[in-house]
Amino acid sequence: MLTPPFELHIPSTLDEACSMAAMLVESGEEFDWIAGGTDLLPNYKWHINTKPHVISLANVSGLDNISTNEIGCMARLHDLAEGGNCHPLVALAAGKVASSLIRRNATLGGNLCLDTRCFWFNQTEEWRSSIDWCHKCDCNTGSDCRVIPNQNELCVATYQGDIAPTLMVLGATAHLIGPNGIRKVAMDEFYQLDGMTRNILEKGEFLLKVTLPSGVEDWIGSYQKLRVRESWDFPEAGVAAAWKKGDRSTLRVATTALESIPRMHNEEVAKSDGNIALLSDEIFRSVKPVNNTSLPPRYRRNMVKVLVKRACEE
Ligand SMILES: Cc1cc2nc3c(=O)[nH]c(=O)nc-3n(C[C@H](O)[C@H](O)[C@H](O)COP(=O)(O)OP(=O)(O)OC[C@H]3O[C@@H](n4cnc5c(N)ncnc54)[C@H](O)[C@@H]3O)c2cc1C
Ligand code: SF4
Repeated sequence: MLTPPFELHIPSTLDEACSMAAMLVESGEEFDWIAGGTDLLPNYKWHINTKPHVISLANVSGLDNISTNEIGCMARLHDLAEGGNCHPLVALAAGKVASSLIRRNATLGGNLCLDTRCFWFNQTEEWRSSIDWCHKCDCNTGSDCRVIPNQNELCVATYQGDIAPTLMVLGATAHLIGPNGIRKVAMDEFYQLDGMTRNILEKGEFLLKVTLPSGVEDWIGSYQKLRVRESWDFPEAGVAAAWKKGDRSTLRVATTALESIPRMHNEEVAKSDGNIALLSDEIFRSVKPVNNTSLPPRYRRNMVKVLVKRACEE
């Protein structure tokens, strides 16, 4: 499969990146950001929502810093997992992403802004054309969503990133930059419940970095992942839990790979009042996986109970 042609822009400063984005937005030209390319380029090869322009963040200096309280968008997952400089919970999740080869290129920004996935969509162009497309890439055919038909409003493709739930339970903040400057948003408000819009980034904006609150080093936790092959597969379900050392009343839990967004489960934690069996039942009832990834939704949902127990008891 041949990657379709696109114009590659390679800014070397933040200002340059923002003004390139602003120029393309103003002229009505569509573009994608590219970081490590481990997700975007395979999608382009399959002609999935390709754009005529791509802006690379690879040469912009100062975006790959890693510390306990701050991680730049271009930080490589290998360095997060092995470098020993970031919070151990983030390192744990980063080490479970894909394979060691992919982690050498893959970045934090790309992981957090990962496109949602669906087995009706992550296919070659010929395959998608043979089923007359779907709502997410209807190619002007007005095609229906194959998972939840008769509603062409929502795409329920699944967000299958591993790191977002760990940042959510640690209380991280996302810093977004674009032609209108920088804005900050809590990590658990970054995602939007629609497999097409995915997150709150506006045209021309990109995720600059995430920061973690002071005192985060006093928090410990676990990330549990269900996947088909341990060697490199996307999560079919993921549960992150964190609490302040010695104080289990501070417990926070977030899930991923079960819906179009990763999300926190504050209500379920409050209802269960420290009872982990009850908490796993509450989260089991709350999540609504659909049939669009490798494993059946019923199995993934049942496994959430197991993952919650493992994450909280570890
Ligand atoms: C075989 C295979 C297995 C995989 N397994 C996993 C897995 O187990 N867990 C998992 O989480 N992921 C997995 N992935 C997906 C992917 O490799 C990782 O999520 C990786 O971290 C993406 O980072 P990247 O820098 O390569 O992103 P890219 O491919 O460069 O970009 C991904 C998306 O994010 C956007 N983007 C990139 N950086 C930014 C930014 N700073 N601001 C705004 N938008 C941005 C791009 O436009 C694109 O839409 C897998 C991929 C493959 C090919
Ligand atoms: S959830 Fe529906 S609209 Fe979204 S990619 Fe899958 S089939 Fe297409």
